[in-house]
Amino acid sequence: MEFVNVIVDISHEKVDRVFQYRIPERLKNSLKVGMQVEIPFGRGNRLTRGYAVGFAQEPDYPPEKIKELFGIVEGSVRAESQLIALAAWMKERYGSTMNHALKTVLPVKQKTRQKQKKKLVRCISLSEGAHLLEHYKSKNFRAKARLLEALLEEEVLDCQKAAGQLKLSAAVIRGLEADGILRVESEQLYRNPFAGHFEKKEQKTVLNEEQRLAVEGIWTDYEKGVRKTYLLHGVTGSGKTEVYMELIARVIGERKQAVVLIPEIALTFQTVRRFHERFGDRVSVMHSRLSEGERYDQFLRAKDGDIDVIIGPRSALFAPFSRIGMIILDEEHESSYKSETVPRYHAREAAVFRGNLCGASVVLGSATPSVESYQHAAEGTYGLYRLTRRVREAVLPLVHIVDLRTELKEGNRSIFSRKLKDAMQKRLQQGQQMMLFLNRRGLSGFVSCRSCGKAIRCPHCDVTLSLHEGGSLKCHYCGYETDMPQVCPVCGSRYISGFRAGTQQIEREVKKLFPRARVLRMDYDTTRTKESYEQILSAFGRREADVLVGTQMIVKGHDFPGVTLVGVLAADLSLHASDYRASERTFQLLTQAVGRAGRGDQAGEAVIQTYVPDHYSIQTAARQDYEAFFHQEMIYRRLLKYPPAAFLLGIYLSGPKDEVLTDCAERMGEMLRGFSTKGLVVIGPAAAALSRKQDQYRKVIYLKHEEEAVLLQVKKKLEEELEKDTVWTKIYIQFDYNPLNAF
Ligand code: ADP
Ligand code: ZN
Ligand code: ZN
Repeated sequence: MEFVNVIVDISHEKVDRVFQYRIPERLKNSLKVGMQVEIPFGRGNRLTRGYAVGFAQEPDYPPEKIKELFGIVEGSVRAESQLIALAAWMKERYGSTMNHALKTVLPVKQKTRQKQKKKLVRCISLSEGAHLLEHYKSKNFRAKARLLEALLEEEVLDCQKAAGQLKLSAAVIRGLEADGILRVESEQLYRNPFAGHFEKKEQKTVLNEEQRLAVEGIWTDYEKGVRKTYLLHGVTGSGKTEVYMELIARVIGERKQAVVLIPEIALTFQTVRRFHERFGDRVSVMHSRLSEGERYDQFLRAKDGDIDVIIGPRSALFAPFSRIGMIILDEEHESSYKSETVPRYHAREAAVFRGNLCGASVVLGSATPSVESYQHAAEGTYGLYRLTRRVREAVLPLVHIVDLRTELKEGNRSIFSRKLKDAMQKRLQQGQQMMLFLNRRGLSGFVSCRSCGKAIRCPHCDVTLSLHEGGSLKCHYCGYETDMPQVCPVCGSRYISGFRAGTQQIEREVKKLFPRARVLRMDYDTTRTKESYEQILSAFGRREADVLVGTQMIVKGHDFPGVTLVGVLAADLSLHASDYRASERTFQLLTQAVGRAGRGDQAGEAVIQTYVPDHYSIQTAARQDYEAFFHQEMIYRRLLKYPPAAFLLGIYLSGPKDEVLTDCAERMGEMLRGFSTKGLVVIGPAAAALSRKQDQYRKVIYLKHEEEAVLLQVKKKLEEELEKDTVWTKIYIQFDYNPLNAF
């Protein structure tokens, strides 16, 4: 490469200013993205430092105007360099501009003022002071006398406190400072949001056999210099967090740092406390409720090497640590690890990349691992460790699967099966708690038959069709469209419809059936703020209600020992979501939901209501049998070439003018087919799941290929083609690599 692009200031506003330099021959082999470089800058050609963010073969400016790079700054790889290299990788893999990628990985440099603690330090001897005090008193300089008196008692005073208690004006303090009697010292204070809240606990947990095997296995590799990704598959409560903490303690012992990623929703006070109890003030937390100032402080603390462990949601991966030894992703299957804005990166993939960059091991933990990660483990690219037992031996709950088709046949049209109704009654009589759970998520709108349980599916993509206004059924992947049938195409029943019950309706029904039951509801409407979310959960935890009705939010995080019954009202809701991950998501939700029953001393019971009782997601979740689920699911993925059996790239097109967008989408589809790449499947263009949003029309094209490298090449070739024609600037194009949600 002939030219290098350099950013000079990594503060937020300026990353989009990229300066181009010619690379001298002697540096061509050693220069890499992320490196700190020296460049002649500005009119005076002052030697300035910057970072290399990319290369170019052709200059973007007249060549005579381009200066030559001066040199590479030698020395340790700084945190910024790692992050810039990470940004460059994200740009390539997920498709975005370098500017977008940089803004994702580099922190907001806020102009918020640091909270400063000022100290007043006496500069004269006691005897000098005593002498001067007499003088002040004789002159009636009362304020000065008060301050000096205090300084004679204590050599160092807290400025703010002294000013308040002694009623001093700033002029008085400045006066004594000017006379050389005291000096004002300021100390940068980091706003630690948890400072002083926790005691460090000295007592350590003794790990059980399975935990020990995991820790020793991973640590033996680490000490041998092997850096890998590991999957820790362990049911909730099996002690995964203890494993993480032991590994982190060892990493810190090697003078390295650790990053712990947790889905935002699971980032509770309890979690944070456990880490603080173990690691004290060397832990820092990042989450969305921190103020900008607090967040930037955490960034500075991390950069200054003031902390060893950072905990936070996916963005904590961009902590400016330069000595990371271990990266942990708890609940690695959670969809919140995927960014839904450009660059649409997945924190798991980014963690593995960053781990490689800085020589860190990566540990992924989950009770229900993503099919992707388990496939890696099955192939041996990830190490696999299992924790099969809960630490506090609780029996697994008794699970009933209720066939709603039979309920209908026998005349029960209520949303509660007889089994569930009886169980609820019994629990209420015994004063025990229950959770009723509606696994509604994202876009639903599928149509299914209440007699045979079948949902209407796309003949090309084997995902359910979704019902659109005007009564047509559409496929979100390929755009296949058909009219809503009058009777079930499989069994001819007239009972076909979308499922419309919501949490509010369930709450109403519970109150109607059991007027004395105390009911709490938790869904999107009742939890607009993070506080209301915590409030509902803690009220339920204090047993202020008998029944908690909610969406999937209620199955995550908290433990409720009083809950002995979990009812899943319509397992089909997530099963028939119109994307290829529907079965996986259902398995995860049901497994978690079932696991909620019987955390205390009493045995638990779970009732799963469904129209498709034989479906493998439901059967395997009821048995808590991950392996069996995984094998079935992989058959489906292989058959239809969905990830991880193949790789999928979503291309999302949007724009204000329907005709322009349609035209561009058609052209792009033709162009991609015209590449004639062997094995490439081009699906669409089709209307997006949300075909219009905020006055923007939206279309999608999906690409599939069995080889990741080929798919990335196709993306690159497409990006190059898009550069050549201005027609593409009329629309907005985003890439989504292995998408989780429909666009
Ligand atoms: P997970 O992260 O898998 O949900 P945790 O690490 O939170 O599991 O463990 C569940 C509970 O069991 C916690 O209260 C934890 O302190 C406790 N625990 C974990 N491991 C042990 C152990 N070896 N001995 C005693 N208690 C343990
Ligand atoms: Zn039917
Ligand atoms: Zn289709």
